[in-house]
Amino acid sequence: MDVNIFGVPLQEIVDWFLVQPLYGQILVLIGVIAVLALAVVIAYYVIKGVAYLIYYLLKGIYYLLKGIGLLFYKLCEALYYAISGKEKPNANIQEQQGVEVMQKPVQQVPQLQPQKVVQFVDHDAAFCTECGNEFSQAMAQQLHEKGFVYCINCGKGFKSNFMQIEVQ
Ligand SMILES: [Zn+2]
Repeated sequence: MDVNIFGVPLQEIVDWFLVQPLYGQILVLIGVIAVLALAVVIAYYVIKGVAYLIYYLLKGIYYLLKGIGLLFYKLCEALYYAISGKEKPNANIQEQQGVEVMQKPVQQVPQLQPQKVVQFVDHDAAFCTECGNEFSQAMAQQLHEKGFVYCINCGKGFKSNFMQIEVQ
């Protein structure tokens, strides 16, 4: 046999093994199995490590290429809009959305405020002092009968001072 293990011919090892007592042979077998098991475990982790290395390397290359592609796309896009002179639609949509988000909480406040701002007017007042619009017939009637009215145009509240005099 030409098989050598660490420079020692296999036949020599087999001969040495056969002359050992039984417990020695068992110990050697256990040792060989332990070494083989260790080798398998080490090989497993090495292969796993290499696989992870290749995986993250490929992933890194993928993100790098993606980043370069995205950069290239953005550059082309910027160049296109710079040359054509068109406005970038994405930016506009984002701006509009941003404005909408900003406006929403603000819009709710003026709806409540006019009811608090009440101005005393003559019970036969015919014009809104806030927006200048003429009171509609219904508004004038409500002001006259109930003593208060909200402008249908701007929402400003009016209270008839005639009614207040009556209450006092
Ligand atoms: Zn008004």
